[in-house]
Amino acid sequence: MGSLKQDWKETGKDLGGAFKQLGKSIVKSGATVVGKANDWAERDDAKEEAKKEAEVMQAVEEREAAKIICPHCNAELEKAEAFCPKCGGKLGE
Ligand SMILES: [Zn+2]
Repeated sequence: MGSLKQDWKETGKDLGGAFKQLGKSIVKSGATVVGKANDWAERDDAKEEAKKEAEVMQAVEEREAAKIICPHCNAELEKAEAFCPKCGGKLGE
């Protein structure tokens, strides 16, 4: 027991590193998903279900993470840019 939990800790670390590049709000939502996955992983009776749910959540989160919203004009950007191509506002921090 505990190996799934350990897996999630490692996954969380990887996710955290990836999300760090994409801005604080996305880091926060990524941490929420990893936290939920950890909760599920700790419930022995729901491990398989939890793993499936977490995989779905992770896939959704990865898709969401690919979409960047400009905090200045709310434009949806396809990828992380240093500056918003619509309004020229600084992105990232
Ligand atoms: Zn903008």
